[in-house]
Amino acid sequence: MRKGLTNYGQHKRTVLVVDDELINREILGNILDEEYNVLYAENGAQAIEILRNQSSTISIVLLDLNMPIMDGFQVIEITKSDEYIRDIPFIVLTSEKTAETKSLKMGAADFIKKPYDVPEVILARVWRIIELYEGRMIIKSTEKDPLTGVLSKGFFFEYASLMNRYDDIPDMDAVVLNFFHFGLFNELYGFNEGDKVLKTIANVASEYVSKYHGIISRYDGDIFYLYMDHHDSYKELDKDIKKELEKNFKNHHAHVNIGIYHKPQDENNLKVAFDKAKSACSKIKYTYQNSIAIYDQTLHDKNVYYEQLIHDIHDGIADNQLKVYLQPKYYIKDDVPRLGAAEALVRWQHPKFGMVSPGDFITLFEENGLIQLVDRYVWNETAKAIRNWKDTFGKAVPVSVNVSRVDILDPNIVEIIKSIVDKNGLSSSDLHLEITESAYSSDMKQLIETVCNLRNEGFEIEMDDFGSGYSSLNMLTSLPIDVLKMDMKFVRSMDTDPTSFKVIKLILEIANFLSVPVVAEGVENETQYKMLKDEGCDYIQGYYFSKPLPKDEFTELLKKSL
Ligand code: C2E
Ligand code: MG
Ligand code: MG
Repeated sequence: MRKGLTNYGQHKRTVLVVDDELINREILGNILDEEYNVLYAENGAQAIEILRNQSSTISIVLLDLNMPIMDGFQVIEITKSDEYIRDIPFIVLTSEKTAETKSLKMGAADFIKKPYDVPEVILARVWRIIELYEGRMIIKSTEKDPLTGVLSKGFFFEYASLMNRYDDIPDMDAVVLNFFHFGLFNELYGFNEGDKVLKTIANVASEYVSKYHGIISRYDGDIFYLYMDHHDSYKELDKDIKKELEKNFKNHHAHVNIGIYHKPQDENNLKVAFDKAKSACSKIKYTYQNSIAIYDQTLHDKNVYYEQLIHDIHDGIADNQLKVYLQPKYYIKDDVPRLGAAEALVRWQHPKFGMVSPGDFITLFEENGLIQLVDRYVWNETAKAIRNWKDTFGKAVPVSVNVSRVDILDPNIVEIIKSIVDKNGLSSSDLHLEITESAYSSDMKQLIETVCNLRNEGFEIEMDDFGSGYSSLNMLTSLPIDVLKMDMKFVRSMDTDPTSFKVIKLILEIANFLSVPVVAEGVENETQYKMLKDEGCDYIQGYYFSKPLPKDEFTELLKKSL
């Protein structure tokens, strides 16, 4: 047996010899017999029958052209149009020059001239074609995904980058299809149904990409990658997929998400383009109503930024990158306003992003609980600062710290805050606690209990951003508080919008009724200040008096005012 590049196994290959003349069949049989299993057919019709019955075992066909019943050309034509046998190679046996060219054009792999050459030449030609054919089959089998028949991942990227090399390549779209909850689908309906779903998606998507000169691959499990000419709307693809899934998998909740990245002509990194399509796709992972998402740079940047902040916060705290700023609260009931208190506000001096404001990370960290680390750091730093002022000046002003919803849910919150105060030799009245609106939407009972416990320990509770949500008025009747902080949005428009001013007057009346002082946040000009003073507001916190200040600057201000 010869060795070849595709020499899997040492078994004999099978050759089908098709010739109407017995003598010719015998000559070829004698030549091939030692190295091959040889099958014979006397005419084209017989040949087709044998090919169809034994398509998987026949490696090559030696085909005479002039035969009764069905000639060689017809055999080639029928074979090439039958998907199960079209890949089997033919060597044509002929003595006519014109027939050679015609058969090669029709798809024959080679020809052998009659009268026959020396046996070695025939054997060599037969083997060469078998080798070529088998090599091609191996490539073909890795080229396609066996289940769905679409391109395999490696070939997909090969072809896609070939497409990118065309001179006149237009803008292209990188598109990712992701079947929703495929694992669950398999578990519920079985792997056969799962396979069927994938085939359905592959079929619909293949048809679609062909309209836009595109290609498709099954990238991984239930993920398909599509690459095609750019166009604005993918509603048609979405509709086609939905229709087929609905038809074949009624009541199975089969659902596909489509993520799209519009790749400009000059952008060449395909992996990056598909990553972007994928991230668009995962953006709508959990929104069943929405099945199409187009990649949007801002959203992506934001996500990357948030991920980075989450990643960096531990180091940030360990390296003292968090800075506690202090914003004065001025008491305005007397003739001359005086510094009466302050609020501690965190900033993050990030090594890469510079000064990051709490607006960027408080909500983010509330979502994953990291806020507790930040808050404890701020409470500790604030307590240390108060201790410092007391040591230096003999006294200080009370400073309020923000307490988030997540802190309230911590069963140890009271002990934690108490121990910070104790550790620094302070009394509870030195540290006020601002509880924001967002906390009121969590467990009411627990909130009330925690607030009561904190007050029993002597802490003053300030209700932050009063009026910004729905529950605050309602909460006032059941939640014992010491200070009301009016939400900035009313203050900022009070001098231009009469309704805001009415709301402010109402809040001041409520506070008066409850006998608690009011802090107005966000006061930026003299008019606002004067209006608030006239209406009997107690404290003002805002840029009109001072922005939040770094600790040293605040210390200077405090020194002067004491
Ligand atoms: P907040 O507790 O209501 O703090 C007041 C915010 O209003 C601060 O924003 C302050 O800089 C800003 N502000 C004060 N006066 C003016 C003014 O006249 N004009 C304008 N435009 N703004 C003014 P900041 O520092 O960006 O903090 C935003 C929010 O982040 C805070 O709102 C608070 O809810 C939260 N936060 C800040 N630091 C912490 C912290 O250490 N822990 C927690 N849990 N949240 C914090
Ligand atoms: Mg606050
Ligand atoms: Mg506030």
